[in-house]
Amino acid sequence: MTWTERQRAMLGAMGIAVWAAPEAGEAASSRDAARSANAARAARETRPNAAPAAALASLAPSGADDRSARAREIAALDWQPLREHVAACRACRLCEGRTQTVFGVGNERAHCMIVGEAPGENEDLQGEPFVGAAGQLLDRMLHAIGLTRGAAEPAQQVYIANTLKCRPPRNRNPEPDELALCAAYLRRQIDLVQPRLLLAMGRFAVQTLLDSSEPIGKLRARVHRWHERPVVVTYHPAYLLRNPADKARAWADLCLAAEQLRR
Ligand code: URA
Repeated sequence: MTWTERQRAMLGAMGIAVWAAPEAGEAASSRDAARSANAARAARETRPNAAPAAALASLAPSGADDRSARAREIAALDWQPLREHVAACRACRLCEGRTQTVFGVGNERAHCMIVGEAPGENEDLQGEPFVGAAGQLLDRMLHAIGLTRGAAEPAQQVYIANTLKCRPPRNRNPEPDELALCAAYLRRQIDLVQPRLLLAMGRFAVQTLLDSSEPIGKLRARVHRWHERPVVVTYHPAYLLRNPADKARAWADLCLAAEQLRR
């Protein structure tokens, strides 16, 4: 297979081995873009979550009726009350170990919404999703298809949210009850953003959105639906850091996502 200069630059940005040095101008412009994305990120406030409102203090639903009442309540919230609800959430055991909740970041009208797994140590400390090593790879992957988390128009700036808003202890896998309780928040975020495309990264995003426990390898490379909305499934950036051979497949998934966004 032969690659155009632009494709080589994109693959290089994702760390895929076929990378070849881009033209000086192209390399400079991609360095400039990376620099301004970093500057935008550094400039963004990493504020702790708002103090819980007294009215939101009892948020640990005990029975099925309580859970559906809670889900209905969340489904009616606008952005700020939703943020406050998340910040005050005590619905599951994860509230006990968190430094802060990690709500989401990006353009509230984004065409593309990224759904990850759960905050890790850095995210728990900074209050923003995907700020560690996996986040840096995510930024390069987004850049490769012309998207960014830095300030931009809704067609370019993504919205990023996780399935869980609190860090699981020692980064263990999310438990089913934690995913089920937190799903109401993600659902509301999706309903508010109204993205044209959801990019589900990793098996817990897929479990939550598609209710499937099939491996990513079986679900990727085609378009699924979440309430009529197209969903593209791909590997989680943390998995790609451990398994770089699958970056080429992730690149194909990103191309599929970009094609959906162009429709
Ligand atoms: N992995 C995720 O899925 N989300 C984060 O916010 C960080 C790492």
